[in-house]
Amino acid sequence: MRLVFATGNRHKLQEAREIFSAVEILSIADFVDSFDPEEHGKTFLENAVIKAEAALAHSGGLPVLSDDSGLIIPALGGAPGVHSARWGGVNGDHVRNRAKLRDDIEDITDRRGYFLCTAIVLFPDGRLIGANGRVDGHLILEERGQHGFGYDPMFIPDGETRTFAEMSPDEKNALSHRGRAFRSLEKMLRWHISND
Ligand code: IMP
Repeated sequence: MRLVFATGNRHKLQEAREIFSAVEILSIADFVDSFDPEEHGKTFLENAVIKAEAALAHSGGLPVLSDDSGLIIPALGGAPGVHSARWGGVNGDHVRNRAKLRDDIEDITDRRGYFLCTAIVLFPDGRLIGANGRVDGHLILEERGQHGFGYDPMFIPDGETRTFAEMSPDEKNALSHRGRAFRSLEKMLRWHISND
């Protein structure tokens, strides 16, 4: 099976290709010159649907994979949440986002947080399946590690001493919100296809 992934984030694309085992993941960049729909939803699901619908218009009849994700820090009232990608003021500027987050958590003692991912597959006939993934951990002020993207250098998942950015892609994917959501989605897809 082939899915067109509705993302402009090359790190997410790479992760999807590593996580899905029996699905070929195509990039929306191969179907349309620029893909950057406005993510004005109030929830991860709303934003995932916005991206999926925008991509479906260009996917040449192929079903579309879409995910929306973010970091939630309860001591900050759930921030940055759906605003994770533009927390520092510029969409997708991970350096600014981390700098803003560091300022936010500097004076709080409870630095627990979790990543959430809502992943969906939208079919051309309007059918939609979805799955969530979550990983709990805590944030640190210094940045450690070179792998991954976004808040990875500041996030240590529960049970680990290393940040996501210090782990290999396989190690991160085994624990991550996106790994969990995509693996659930792949199981649902198998069931969906065998009952089609
Ligand atoms: P999205 O592309 O709109 O889903 O934006 C998600 C944002 O949440 C990213 O730009 C990152 O700031 C953050 N984020 C989501 N997943 C991860 C991850 O696996 N590691 C680090 N940051 C992440």
